[in-house]
Amino acid sequence: MTRVLVVEDDPQLVRALVINLRARHYGVDAAPDGTTALRLAAAHRPDVVMLDLGLPDMDGVDVIKALRDKALRGRTPVPILVLSARTASEDKAAALDAGADDYITKPFAMDALMVRLRAAARRTEATPVPSGVTRVETDGLTVDLVARKATRDGHDVLLTATEWHLLEILITSPGRLVPQKDLLRQVWGPPHGDPAPYLRVYMAQLRRKLEADPSRPRHLITEPGTGYRFET
Ligand code: CA
Repeated sequence: MTRVLVVEDDPQLVRALVINLRARHYGVDAAPDGTTALRLAAAHRPDVVMLDLGLPDMDGVDVIKALRDKALRGRTPVPILVLSARTASEDKAAALDAGADDYITKPFAMDALMVRLRAAARRTEATPVPSGVTRVETDGLTVDLVARKATRDGHDVLLTATEWHLLEILITSPGRLVPQKDLLRQVWGPPHGDPAPYLRVYMAQLRRKLEADPSRPRHLITEPGTGYRFET
């Protein structure tokens, strides 16, 4: 059973989420604040976290950072779906930059949320060995998609599930231009809202982690207005 941790201080929304999730056979924990959320996340190891940013005791972005800090020491980073009334692109970027996997603006339709939840939960399932190129070794960068291991200049690089997914799509077909909409559909599911900020944030993270000089990327190349490609 997929376990979802709902972190939300609005009791009506919690109630609606719990009813909808249980009806779809998810296991549900609910936390009304960040402190409870971190305690429950450590105790129950949820498969997905749904997180409000405006919490009574701490900012949701700090909850993301704390979860990521713990998760990266473990094996699979838990996917985090942010549910927030904050619509400014800086708020979205802050949440994604801290390690959120998806950002859903309130108010949302419950069906749409469930689609995005399924996409997030899928990302942590054991993925079949990808076909195509699965290992890259070049100028200080190694990436092994099968072992899920990346190193930069001999140091391990820790990537989130979303970052792995993006990297996998690009690396398995080196040199091929992957259109933005294809990347988005494969990683985040059906299109929603303005996709470009997601990709920009995630590609910037990948470059920061993998490129020798992130401002002049050699491997993760942007084709302005169209998409991205990986060069070995
Ligand atoms: Ca709130």
